[in-house]
Amino acid sequence: MLLLINILQFVMITTSTTNQFELPPLPYDIAALEPHISEQTLRYHHGKHLAAYVKRLNELIIGTRFEGMPLEEIVCQSDGTLFNNAAQAWTHKFYFDQFSPRPTTQPSGALKEAIDEHYGGIEQLKESLNSEALALFGSGWVWLAADDDGNLSIVSTANAGTPLTEGLHPLLAIDVWEHAYYIDHRNARAGGIKSFWAVLDWDIISQRYNNQ
Ligand code: MN
Repeated sequence: MLLLINILQFVMITTSTTNQFELPPLPYDIAALEPHISEQTLRYHHGKHLAAYVKRLNELIIGTRFEGMPLEEIVCQSDGTLFNNAAQAWTHKFYFDQFSPRPTTQPSGALKEAIDEHYGGIEQLKESLNSEALALFGSGWVWLAADDDGNLSIVSTANAGTPLTEGLHPLLAIDVWEHAYYIDHRNARAGGIKSFWAVLDWDIISQRYNNQ
């Protein structure tokens, strides 16, 4: 089930002894995505931004009913500052995990069929995602998500928003916060989106879809 994937997403970063979340490691070397996403970007994006979200999340849950709760449940049951930090922690792990230094550039299997049927092909889907990412004002995320029946949709969320709270299953996420691309591309968001596609591994996205 896709839900199972969502729930498993952050199990690895909790420790049973402290109920605290730990910074999830990158699944590749910190310089492995160069020249598309630089080591310096990942040092800030993973080592500073994600680390700060996880640290703040841990501070906020201590002594509350959220302590010991799976991260996905915290995201779906919280609001305000706790929601912002919990959702950003969940989404950034999901984000970093979708990249590979040697990415598969095309979807396969059931996901390819669904994309062809719903969008007319991978290039059309990417154009639609790019348009959403360029049009999103300010900070946020653009997602490809699936419902319980496997139907695909493109979702834009502001700030820390996530389709998890709508009962949808995220498949991929484009980080439209300036911190995702400013070091490498300054204000040129389109350049950041181009780099995103250069390292996005469609094999990982296809597997996420297969687990429904
Ligand atoms: Mn980010």
